[in-house]
Amino acid sequence: MAERSARGGRSASRPKARGRPDGRRRGSGLALYNTLTRRKDVFKSLEPGRVKMYSCGPTVYRHAHIGNLRAYLVADWLRRLLEAHGYRVRHVKNITDVGHMRQEMLERGEDKVIAAALAEGKTPAEIARFYTEAFMADERRLNILPAHVFPHASETVPEMVEMAYRLVEKGYAYESGGNVYFAVDRFAEYGKLSGQTSGGLEAGVRAQVDPLKRDPRDFALWKAAEPGRQLVWHSPWGDGFPGWHIECSAMAARHLGSRIDLHTGGVDNIFPHHEDEIAQSEAAFGHQHVNHWTHAQHLLVDGVKMAKSSGNTYTLAELEARGFEPLAFRYLCATVNYRARMDFSFAALRAAQRGLTRLRLKLTEPDGRVTKMARAEGERWRRLFWTVAADDLGLPGALAVAWRVGRSRLAAPIKRELLMDFDRLLGLDLVQPVRPPQPDAGIEEMLKERDGRRRARDYVAADGIREKVLAQGFEVRDSRRATIAAPLPLWARSVEAISASADVESLLEGAPDLDFTIGIVAREGCAELERCVSSIQRWLGSQRAEVIVVDNGLEDTCSLRLDSVAEDDPHVRVFHADHFLGSAAGRNVCLRQARGRYVLLIDTSVEVTGDVFSRLRPLLDDPTVGVVGRWGVTTRDIRSFDEAKAAGDVDAVEGYLLAFRREILREIGLLDEKFRFYRHLDLDFSFAVRSRGYRAVVDTKLPLVRHEHVDWERTPPEERERLSKRNFYRFLHKWGDRTDLILSARP
Ligand SMILES: [Zn+2]
Repeated sequence: MAERSARGGRSASRPKARGRPDGRRRGSGLALYNTLTRRKDVFKSLEPGRVKMYSCGPTVYRHAHIGNLRAYLVADWLRRLLEAHGYRVRHVKNITDVGHMRQEMLERGEDKVIAAALAEGKTPAEIARFYTEAFMADERRLNILPAHVFPHASETVPEMVEMAYRLVEKGYAYESGGNVYFAVDRFAEYGKLSGQTSGGLEAGVRAQVDPLKRDPRDFALWKAAEPGRQLVWHSPWGDGFPGWHIECSAMAARHLGSRIDLHTGGVDNIFPHHEDEIAQSEAAFGHQHVNHWTHAQHLLVDGVKMAKSSGNTYTLAELEARGFEPLAFRYLCATVNYRARMDFSFAALRAAQRGLTRLRLKLTEPDGRVTKMARAEGERWRRLFWTVAADDLGLPGALAVAWRVGRSRLAAPIKRELLMDFDRLLGLDLVQPVRPPQPDAGIEEMLKERDGRRRARDYVAADGIREKVLAQGFEVRDSRRATIAAPLPLWARSVEAISASADVESLLEGAPDLDFTIGIVAREGCAELERCVSSIQRWLGSQRAEVIVVDNGLEDTCSLRLDSVAEDDPHVRVFHADHFLGSAAGRNVCLRQARGRYVLLIDTSVEVTGDVFSRLRPLLDDPTVGVVGRWGVTTRDIRSFDEAKAAGDVDAVEGYLLAFRREILREIGLLDEKFRFYRHLDLDFSFAVRSRGYRAVVDTKLPLVRHEHVDWERTPPEERERLSKRNFYRFLHKWGDRTDLILSARP
């Protein structure tokens, strides 16, 4: 293809980038913001086809936090983008393992660990080795391509001494009391990167200004060792250790030479670190050292800067411990422009995890037919992706293109091919490299049997079989053409979870914009839940309605299936709880989110067998009626309850179906969340409604059937006895003396 468009005279009539749709032509319009020039520059390498890249690496006396990791991710994306543009990148990332431990210990209160390690007799080198390994592991888990060289500062000290010596010789630096300082006033261009020359030294910390310096702005290239210091090197000025900034100048020069293309870091490196690096290197070499500077912006946590004292610094391991994939953090960073501040929150991370999982799911779709037209469309998407990415590393836009491809109707092989191509930049492991397991004959057999059951409309049995297939790690997917068993990805877990009903916004103050909200809360029984939901979907017809399903601690495979139900049906919304919230709290999620004029809480044991909605409407519009159900109870003493035999008024409606006007919640409030077990919750609700003067009514003609109640069946007898009793007393305490509400006691 590329060959033809290159040779054929008609290439002009083809789409422009057809020959190299992924932008593999070198330097083809790669625009990058340059901190030095303060504008987007068209990136041009010093040497055709090659890029020399240096990134400020970690200080290995502590774990990297997620703010540090963001900067390494940005560097990784830049490198990948350059490589996608055909450059051979040589990437150097230093390891700062020298000299600053004491400073670190003073500056940050965090180094109790180090103090402890030192007390245990560990050497600084051992500590550095430990944190270097931890850093490498973090990078691996984030899919950050390893730099070609990781120079250790401790191994580059002779080069640093040499550079400092050269600067003294050239008159840019001076020795004072065994220290060597860079004389800032000798370097005319000082401040050209940051626009800063003093860092507020005069204003803030005059008292701490080193008396050995000629000018408070001067910075140390070499420091004399204090007595008792373990890490010392020889130098022409006596034993000591290098300053931090000279490390990077020396290591960059040693491994990349005196002219390099690209230098990256975080914005907090701009001053003084990078400003000083420029001064040292350019004074030593007599020419510009770095052409292009890229800086990643800060990461804030919940709107504030990360600080040990705020208790809001997080490491990658801490995110993992909360159940997140490291790549979810990578995904989250890709959703924010690298030059914008990124506000990290666990809610955002949950959304990222979910986005990542869903995007990958798009790639497990069954194969479709690949047409010529689809291929051409695919190429248009490819061009768009790489064009967006080439505009100052436009990852949020590029990710959006990946999503549009994922959602598109393109045949699966084209989607996969495109997303694999995009993943060269994104690095999100969108396509699992290993060949997924194939369903064996046993599973094929089960699928056949399920097909038969479905044809016979025995959906319960069919769902039972699906459950078994799932248990083997395969998800059953039905399409018009065929039913297939697709391997269930390990990562296909739902993480966007709520921990309390208050985690969802209450929409109850707003006016209803739908007619019906159907709320379903499930903890057990995927098959039952699906039967319930699909029966509702079947009979919703053209009602203006929504179905809210709360996954109240269902198992993962079921959560995943719920997601695909919601994806296929815009009426359905799913909320995942990260643990069992309790029966009342789970239902309150539905209530808080209800946008319907009428609310139906339906138990998963119930199946809708007809148009229950139209039949409920007139009942719900009766202003004397507060709650309607299909099943109800009567009582003589508020202690024992009997199933109501006939339609009409009852003492309480049973929880299989509780239907009511949403506005009634303004009077009685939400459900009492102390009811963690479901029993008597329905009675409590009915009594609350009735205590306001409304009737509780049962319509035995409502087209509903009741199946086995899984919550009841699957709770061990002693446990349900205990829970029931507790709820009973709770109920009794509230309503036990309201004999005025007993219908049979009324005249
Ligand atoms: Zn550096």
